[in-house]
Amino acid sequence: MKKVRTRFAPSPTGYMHIGNLRTALFTYLIAKQNDGDFILRIEDTDQERYVDGAVDVIYKTLRDVGLNWDEGPDVGGPVGPYVQSERMGMFKKYAVELVEKGEAYYCFCDKERLDEVKAIQEASGIMPMYDRHCRNLSKEEVQAKLDAGVPYVIRQKVPLEGEVTFHDALYGDITVDCSTLDDQILIKTDGMPTYNFANVVDDHLMGISHVVRGNEYLASAPKYNLLYKAFGWEVPEYIHVEHIMKDKQHKLSKRDGDASYEDLMQKGYLKEAVINYIALLGWAPKGENEIFSLEELIKEFDIQGLSKSPAIFDPMKLKAINGKYIKALTPEKFAEYAIPYIKQTVKREDVDLEEISALLQARTELFTDIPESVDFVDELPDYDIELYTHKKMKTNPENSLDSLKAVLPVLEAIDENDWTIDNIHEKLFELIAQKEVKNGIILWPLRVAVSGKAFTPGGGIEICHIIGKQDSIERIKKGIEKLS
Ligand code: GLU
Repeated sequence: MKKVRTRFAPSPTGYMHIGNLRTALFTYLIAKQNDGDFILRIEDTDQERYVDGAVDVIYKTLRDVGLNWDEGPDVGGPVGPYVQSERMGMFKKYAVELVEKGEAYYCFCDKERLDEVKAIQEASGIMPMYDRHCRNLSKEEVQAKLDAGVPYVIRQKVPLEGEVTFHDALYGDITVDCSTLDDQILIKTDGMPTYNFANVVDDHLMGISHVVRGNEYLASAPKYNLLYKAFGWEVPEYIHVEHIMKDKQHKLSKRDGDASYEDLMQKGYLKEAVINYIALLGWAPKGENEIFSLEELIKEFDIQGLSKSPAIFDPMKLKAINGKYIKALTPEKFAEYAIPYIKQTVKREDVDLEEISALLQARTELFTDIPESVDFVDELPDYDIELYTHKKMKTNPENSLDSLKAVLPVLEAIDENDWTIDNIHEKLFELIAQKEVKNGIILWPLRVAVSGKAFTPGGGIEICHIIGKQDSIERIKKGIEKLS
């Protein structure tokens, strides 16, 4: 069997759209699950889109997530250069080869003439296409014009009739009537290749066996196929993947703030979770499990599981997957990530950041949610007494006042040196037993009084321990005041 060689061919735009990262991922997975090569080729010939430093963004992102390439601009390889702009001199001879084979021709029409033809076609409601004026020039006529230095392009001789069929792993066979296809330009007046031509020649010269790309290229695919045919080259396996959408109508765009890898990193997602999630955008694993490391994806990924419907980017699902990765971190690793976020709102120095971190791990889905979730540690926020009402706990402002009044002396009686979770716990549960009430009757009002919030990492007891005795007593007193 032919060696599997896949390539990721990004254009350096300055950011990594997650659709592109997904293409890179699928491309990488196909190579690795077949012991093949994963190649990075930079398609930087569209100067208008060119952005300084953009190539580094590509390198950094791929390395960050572990999609290491076997051949590429920086690591080299046998079929370089791997930057398209450095290959520009290589293409013309292939176009000339097609001219010699009778599959392409020189076209000397100038812009004025082409514009006229187009205007006439448009006026009569015909789809604008080159009218093939130069297709049948004699050898002598061509040579005379070349000798006279008349500017030219090289166009492909697309069959005038018949059909061309193109195969895609996902969409099956797509057949197009040749009469609808233009005699596409292969080499422009400046001697440079058109994008489509360079892409086909590059894939061939680099021995690419599988091409994964966005389905915006599906429409040009029959033309690619005609080129392969004209050369007599083997066509790679094409896999055109669906777009990633924000919702049913809109593609996920840069403006949406979740569209690029950088956006997601800034929001505090773990890269392992991001890779796992984007693998699921348009691909369904065989079983129920959706949590996969990159290594596991290499084994699990299967072209058959790709979908023909657009994938909708679901931030809630990404967040849930991120939460799973966070829970699986060792406490030390979690603390390493979490403490900088805790420090954004917790400035006081008399608290144990690792203790806060330990409480956060079980309930954190996104690191950037941390600062807000611990913002009560430094200072009690101003809260509404309605927070004391909790249906399930059966609490309300009235019985909460009783509870806080009962809790206060119990906690005051604990010596500052004995202010441990176990001691606070023991004394409060003695009180609960003595009053013959449900835990929540005492613990819910305590949590509200010491945090001013309905959702906190840990409960009232843990919070009391974190903020210390003095602060706890003061906050409980404030609660009593508010409720009285
Ligand atoms: N350079 C193209 C892009 O970034 C890739 C096209 C292809 O993979 O064939 O969209």
